[in-house]
Amino acid sequence: MAKRSKLLMLPGALAVVFLFAGCASVPYTGRSQMIFYSESSDIELGAEAWKETLAKEKKSTDSTSIQALNRVGAHLAAAANRPDYQWEFVVLESTEPNAFALPGGKVAVYSALFTLVDNDAELATVVGHEVSHALARHGVERMSQNIFRNCGGILVEQLFGSQWNEVYNGGTDLIAMLPYSRTQEYEADHLGLILMARAGYDPAAALTFWEKFRKLSQTGTVLEFLSTHPDGDKRLEELKKQLPEAQKYYDEAPEKYGNGNRYR
Ligand SMILES: [Zn+2]
Repeated sequence: MAKRSKLLMLPGALAVVFLFAGCASVPYTGRSQMIFYSESSDIELGAEAWKETLAKEKKSTDSTSIQALNRVGAHLAAAANRPDYQWEFVVLESTEPNAFALPGGKVAVYSALFTLVDNDAELATVVGHEVSHALARHGVERMSQNIFRNCGGILVEQLFGSQWNEVYNGGTDLIAMLPYSRTQEYEADHLGLILMARAGYDPAAALTFWEKFRKLSQTGTVLEFLSTHPDGDKRLEELKKQLPEAQKYYDEAPEKYGNGNRYR
């Protein structure tokens, strides 16, 4: 009886999910996305998670790093052209050379990352990548994939029994449950390259920066940033392919996007 009523509820539950399924698309790349959240919930969810994160982490007091991040962050936020986002850029104290973004425009860079950055353009590479995760709504896209996967799991269990469900979940775990998907990571690199170029930073700096990271990973230093991010060789290969496109934005930047300066 219990099983039967659950089965009867299923079409309704799936219909609700599909009713709210927004068909969004990523700026610049045009990739279609399945997102069950409104644009305003990005901002609300991000702000809430940000508050919780900041309560746990220690903010850096190093004025050089803070000023560099504010400078670079402001230019990239302007290039992202989302004035509705509540952009915020914070340096957090950590020995891990890492960075992360939350939906709606919250970006944190760990203090150790600044030791690997030689100029603003290299910092713009990392911040541009993180700004792009927020701009392309990767956080809520990932959450939507999770909901979809769970609905699919219920359906498979009802139709084929729990053993099948285990098989199904084992497979989708690998595809859908990585921190960010590979697609999202390469997309954040691609968008980040365009944003930094539009903001007036030489996109070629992305290659020098990721090359340094690749070398670090070869020395056996395990970096969290790298472990959740794409393979170094493949990433550089992709960036090299995307460089000419970004170069066009860089050449147009001073006139077209109103920033008279080139930043290094
Ligand atoms: Zn990333």
